[in-house]
Amino acid sequence: MQFNTIDDMDLEGKRVLLRVDINVPLDHGRVTDATRIERIVPSVHDILAKGGRPVLIAHMGRPKGRTVLDMSLRQVLATLREKLGRSVAFIETLDGAEAPTEEQLSADVILLENIRFHPGEEKNDSEFAQRLAGLGDVFCNDAFSAAHRAHASTEGVAHLMPAFAGRLMQAELEALEAALGHPQRPVVAVVGGAKVSSKLDLLGNLVAKVDHLVIGGGMANTFLAAQGLAVGKSLCEHELAETARDIIGKAGAAGCEIVLPEDVVVAREFKAGAQSEIVAAADCPSDAMILDAGPKAVARIGAVLEGAKTLIWNGPLGAFEIPPFDRATNAAAAYAAELTLAGHLTSVAGGGDTVAALNGAGAADEFTYISTAGGAFLEWMEGKDLPGVAALSR
Ligand code: AMP
Repeated sequence: MQFNTIDDMDLEGKRVLLRVDINVPLDHGRVTDATRIERIVPSVHDILAKGGRPVLIAHMGRPKGRTVLDMSLRQVLATLREKLGRSVAFIETLDGAEAPTEEQLSADVILLENIRFHPGEEKNDSEFAQRLAGLGDVFCNDAFSAAHRAHASTEGVAHLMPAFAGRLMQAELEALEAALGHPQRPVVAVVGGAKVSSKLDLLGNLVAKVDHLVIGGGMANTFLAAQGLAVGKSLCEHELAETARDIIGKAGAAGCEIVLPEDVVVAREFKAGAQSEIVAAADCPSDAMILDAGPKAVARIGAVLEGAKTLIWNGPLGAFEIPPFDRATNAAAAYAAELTLAGHLTSVAGGGDTVAALNGAGAADEFTYISTAGGAFLEWMEGKDLPGVAALSR
């Protein structure tokens, strides 16, 4: 997809509506993790450097079209000022009844109150989008993580004025393009996590696009069971056996190799430090649960990674929150990080628990790109058009 970036735009003297994701965690009104705020700094600074005046539009939580005080963006103002190192004025209402204050007129940056306080936002109401468009001259979207929603501030407004991608959006789209758009082959996808049912569309899309699909986590159990192996008390969606066989069939027709664990770590209890043993995937005892992939499986994944040029990863290979069932995830992630560092692999990961799992493995920093967008990243892996991204199309 072709889209404009900050570099393509003349912003001198322009008010730039900048959609950002600063939906940060709060504790009693204090920001406890400012990562999302830190990540918008490059766009704000680059817009200011080009003579533009950023008007930030953002949401917090799910107020469902009503004013909910503990979801007010006023709570992030101090952190925003600190991270941007600029003056930031806050605008509480959009009705324009009151004249702008001195502070609002002179500030470098303007932050609008939680856009989801307005019922028109999530409805993508065209009148509301027009009102938003009236607040600026051009529109910059830097909120990839909200791009799977067709809301007024992510989609509607983009059709009403010149629209372009912010730095974060640009980095995300370039990484995704490198991983699944026009990737260097061979491409390997690692998909783990709890259930097949939540990742059906994703698996269906991937088998048509990648050369190797490594399936891990609880969802691998469903595939093992579908091939007639006993999985004891493991998490398993037996009712999806037919679906799993379908996916294997589609992969075969598309020339995609499915990699399932040949050995597994089993335990009788699901708790930290539980006694565990390694058995062949075919030998899960009837009273045990499969909680991780075994060392042979990890070696096989390593060999696949070694032969690959591109990796896309979503979901842990085991119950990674509970040691020792984090071993396969940690080992595979560490190896992917090593190959990336050596310049052999482009590695992109994201969605759900993946960021936590890769952080736990100490591998996240070496990956080429880690997306912190949950739902948007998954919908993109499913091959869906993201309305907020499509609206930026040149
Ligand atoms: P998801 O949100 O679908 O990516 O799933 C992540 C969750 O899957 C994590 O909480 C893991 O603990 C869990 N998980 C991974 N492998 C297993 C397994 N073999 N048995 C039970 N839960 C697992």
